[in-house]
Amino acid sequence: MRASSLSLIRACHTSFIFVKIDSRSNEPVQAMTFSSAPLGISEDFDVVVVGAGISGIGAAWHLQHQCPSKSFVVLESQDSFGGTWRTHRFPGIRSDSDLFTFGYGFKPWMGPPIATGAEILRYVKDVIVENALAKHIRYRHSIQSAAWSTEARRWQLEVIRVSSDGQSERVQFTASFLWMCQGYYRHAEGYTPEWLGMERFKGRLVHPQTWPDDLELDGKKVVVIGSGATAATLIPAIADQCAGVTMLQRSPTFYITGRNANDLADTLRQLDIPSEWTHEIVRRKVLFDQAAFIRRCATEPEAVRTDLLNGVRAALGSSFEAEVDKHFSPRYRPWQQRIAFVPNADLFKSIREGKATVVTDHIETFTERGIQLKSGQVLEADVVVSATGFNLSVLGDIRFSVDGQPLDFGETVTWRGAMFTGVPNMAWVFGYFRASWTLRADLVSALICRLLTHMDALGTRFVVPALRPQDDSMALKPWVDPENFNPGYLIRGVGLLPRQGSHAPWLHSQDYWTEKEELPVADLDDGTLVYR
Ligand SMILES: Cc1cc2nc3c(=O)[nH]c(=O)nc-3n(C[C@H](O)[C@H](O)[C@H](O)COP(=O)(O)OP(=O)(O)OC[C@H]3O[C@@H](n4cnc5c(N)ncnc54)[C@H](O)[C@@H]3O)c2cc1C
Repeated sequence: MRASSLSLIRACHTSFIFVKIDSRSNEPVQAMTFSSAPLGISEDFDVVVVGAGISGIGAAWHLQHQCPSKSFVVLESQDSFGGTWRTHRFPGIRSDSDLFTFGYGFKPWMGPPIATGAEILRYVKDVIVENALAKHIRYRHSIQSAAWSTEARRWQLEVIRVSSDGQSERVQFTASFLWMCQGYYRHAEGYTPEWLGMERFKGRLVHPQTWPDDLELDGKKVVVIGSGATAATLIPAIADQCAGVTMLQRSPTFYITGRNANDLADTLRQLDIPSEWTHEIVRRKVLFDQAAFIRRCATEPEAVRTDLLNGVRAALGSSFEAEVDKHFSPRYRPWQQRIAFVPNADLFKSIREGKATVVTDHIETFTERGIQLKSGQVLEADVVVSATGFNLSVLGDIRFSVDGQPLDFGETVTWRGAMFTGVPNMAWVFGYFRASWTLRADLVSALICRLLTHMDALGTRFVVPALRPQDDSMALKPWVDPENFNPGYLIRGVGLLPRQGSHAPWLHSQDYWTEKEELPVADLDDGTLVYR
């Protein structure tokens, strides 16, 4: 086992303090200062993990348990952990996946299936505390560029570090392996389309991703544009305090309703079954049920549509019968987009009680006092919430280069949805959309750790996926098949994302049930990974 990470750093035009890090304690063991200005610090690790969200903290746990001899650091631009669950602070923020599968495989979930943002943050914090991961995380470190040098066998990262009093400085990190856990959207700002007349609107226009602390909703007329999971979460959380909330959608979304409870989990807990067992058993049951549901969506989509709409009908009550087909029957097939879970039917309760209404129409223009629709109807609003999604951020908006050449990520082909042709020693965790994100984060993390261990056994410090001669004629497809899954942010940014091939290991199937069999036994010596 190596006691410390390699300290291979070259001072170029600026000066740096170079620090060697002990892999066990994560403490510096040796420092060398190269004089002259400006001052920066360069640290070297075996692995740099980008992002301290669900995926980055999961990566840290896997590294600690599967690769104990590796030194690693998690760099996070925000001032704390949690990623999505820290960024989003709108009222009612909660998961729409159950936490038995959205939670990690290694950390039992003890609460009801759907969790609030605060509960998820507490769960992630417990993982950090119980595994002493805090010493590996650097907050307020925003990676600007990543340059791979084959000669040095290292990534060199330019990072802006902001101190707690707001001072910023440029620092450097180098690493043998770069593990991207930066999620898929830009955290600083959400996606708001350009609507005619927006500048005339005298009320407040807000995005749920950047929810203002001072937003006053008491007695206000609110229009929420959009009907995805965010709108479905936000509306019941604010409906009681507002003068009225309108959910304005261009087209309907599928919803599924149910109690925020899991009977099997409750029974096992009552029987005092160890929490690890309960977590695993309930996880398997949830996944078993989901697999059956997905199969049904493929084989009898119309029957599933009828069932989902019947669920909405039951939740709304008979007086809303006429509304259901108009407002709740999407054009797409069930599962072509994520189905929003509405726990305890709270959105429908707000509608039933007359506190929320649904309008299906198109925006003609904003006016001073609200929104005029194509139908001519006018929605008066003091506050408009644009729950219109994300700006795709590919690789954390980091400028990448490989041996001096800028990286065009859209030109690469993915190896198992985790690594990329022409990009050495780098992996990306991109989770599932229709199953819980974390299921894939866990699978990919285990795969990367297995690869790092394999590289040590081979005595190599270089790995890159490369198409073989027999892959040359393979048809290339987008990262995610738009026929199969087509939310706006992916369609808008599909050209920026890597492509996938038509056969393994170049597929990115987004299918947990295939990958849970394939990834743990993926052949690392089949010629698609080149080691040098
Ligand atoms: C409101 C909302 C609800 C959701 N609910 C669910 C759900 O119920 N189930 C589900 O499966 N999925 C859900 N998702 C998807 C969700 O984003 C993922 O499940 C998961 O939280 C993503 O975790 P992550 O760590 O991969 O990425 P993120 O949560 O996006 O975290 C990435 C982190 O990387 C940091 N970072 C990015 N770039 C840089 C850089 N250049 N330098 C340093 N740090 C950087 C960011 O600051 C951030 O902290 C939801 C998403 C949203 C927005």
